[in-house]
Amino acid sequence: MNAIIVNDRSYAVPDHPVVVITVDGGDPRYFRDALERGIMPRLRKLLDDEGSFGVGMSEIPSLTNPNNLSIVTGVAPALHGIPGNYCRLPDGSLELLNDPKYLRAPSIHAAFQSAGIPTLTVTAKDKLRLLLAHGGVPSVSVERAAGAGIPQYGIDDVETLIGSPAPGVYDPLASHYAMRIGLAALRAHPELRLIYVSLTDRVQHAAAPGDELSDLFFSEFDALLGEYLEEGCTVAITADHGMNAKHDDRGEPRVHYLLDILAERGVPVHEVVLPITDPYVKHHGALGGFAWLHLDPEQAVRAKEVLGGLSGIEEIWDREEAATVYELPVDRIGDLAVTAAADTALGRSREDHDLSQLHGNLRSHGGRHEQLVPLILSHPVVGPLATRFEAGTLRNRDIHDLALNRASGEG
Ligand SMILES: [Zn+2]
Repeated sequence: MNAIIVNDRSYAVPDHPVVVITVDGGDPRYFRDALERGIMPRLRKLLDDEGSFGVGMSEIPSLTNPNNLSIVTGVAPALHGIPGNYCRLPDGSLELLNDPKYLRAPSIHAAFQSAGIPTLTVTAKDKLRLLLAHGGVPSVSVERAAGAGIPQYGIDDVETLIGSPAPGVYDPLASHYAMRIGLAALRAHPELRLIYVSLTDRVQHAAAPGDELSDLFFSEFDALLGEYLEEGCTVAITADHGMNAKHDDRGEPRVHYLLDILAERGVPVHEVVLPITDPYVKHHGALGGFAWLHLDPEQAVRAKEVLGGLSGIEEIWDREEAATVYELPVDRIGDLAVTAAADTALGRSREDHDLSQLHGNLRSHGGRHEQLVPLILSHPVVGPLATRFEAGTLRNRDIHDLALNRASGEG
């Protein structure tokens, strides 16, 4: 079969539509819980037939931008260049990493599109759209769907195509609208061969597995999954990261404010960078499980002593160590990388975070404990990745390999 090489990996060109869905914050626990309680009958049937359910790892920091880019490029942040949603660049400027100028590797979709294979990328959050569209990939976001079209496919108006106005980006059903756009585009253009749909974690930040809102989210997701399958699609599902509660029994956020703690102990730092920072403050108030510290070398030693003694702080790595351990671009990370325990979040300074904006209790991600992601396929896994799939050692960046290289011997 015809294959295309992207970033030194080979992807077979499918003869039917292949859809990869990234459930933002789609921790495997949501899927297991929903399957156990019968919330996802279509997925249950898929798995009982010939589908596959596995678990793998996300990139660290376990955040939206680095992982979405790993998923669409098939390589680690060290190669694609996006180590966070936000970072401090070598010139000292603080930047949201939403612009394609930061990308260092092409996406699988861009390579397919330039080879004449029709692709589409749909994202709930507009912040991802330009990154995912880079290289000429037809793209649209739910957040900016009003008045938007997909000119490459002659679609003038997305809302007319769907037949209903797009929900706001904080609407619990914004993700499902993204899935509907992919479906409607496919029905209008059956020649589409590779569709990427990236959802939003608005629900996962607010609701635990088994909560009413989660059930609503996953039952609606399941119905739309069924519609993709009825269209004859190969479907692959993963997540950009998991999600954990980071509050105590009374609902109070459990947070270490690193700038405050280090100031109290007389350790000066140039900057505390929280790479979860993005335009969607109602999700997490910029509190997550990962932080970068920019500071002088002699202060790094003292900062390690202070932070290493706190309960709820887990890993502290120097810049070069973190670049290797987490596979990150060394020029776009801090002098120290700090991760938090499952139940703890890292903040900058108490006054920097407005927690009254949150949808509910603090649930967030960014560290090791949100690294587990589902790898779900509508077909059996065979070929070179089968052993590692069974062993649970694959990554979300392998999902396009799993989705496209279905036959034995490919990939
Ligand atoms: Zn995310």
